[in-house]
Amino acid sequence: MSVDTKALYNIGYGLYVITTNDGTKHNGMICNTVTQQTSTPALVSVTINKANYTCEIIQKTGELNVNCLTVKAPFSVFEKFGFASGRDTDKFAGEEVKTSQNGLVVLDKYINSFMSLKVQQSIDLGTHIMFICEVTEAEVVDNTETMSYAYYHKNVKPKPKAQQSLGYMCKICGYVYNGETLPEDFVCPVCKHPASDFEPVE
Ligand code: FE
Repeated sequence: MSVDTKALYNIGYGLYVITTNDGTKHNGMICNTVTQQTSTPALVSVTINKANYTCEIIQKTGELNVNCLTVKAPFSVFEKFGFASGRDTDKFAGEEVKTSQNGLVVLDKYINSFMSLKVQQSIDLGTHIMFICEVTEAEVVDNTETMSYAYYHKNVKPKPKAQQSLGYMCKICGYVYNGETLPEDFVCPVCKHPASDFEPVE
């Protein structure tokens, strides 16, 4: 028996911006692990890495919004919400934001729906926490298709330049590390993902 981890890449995902508020400022992060689990009542699970500031905020407040990104979302949305931490940056600084009834941000662009969630239970998965949530508010705001992870990889993430023939590319943000071997403890300087998220540039 063998486990080809590439098989797991064939599980389909959508891409979402999770918005929260730590009591002093709004925050947002990119997430692909949002799934509806039951319909009566509607329960939605969201799984977040414990290293993310958002995880800490949700544990503290029990509240979050899911903003469903559409295929129109440009790479800049992923840079803004995916490649920096709310621990040291204010991702909505100087912006006039729209909020739902729970006071959390609803993005004004590039989403087709949002839902406000309240945590019912948390499951510790080691590196991540899975939050099982009830839906307290939800609205469809546009009919553009949801962006899938596959669509992001194919159409949104920058392509490596032809002359960068030797090295490893970050599968998350497209950053290219030039060199014959990628150090095991390498961390992407752009999106902070580990060496395991890099693949050789052909
Ligand atoms: Fe990266």
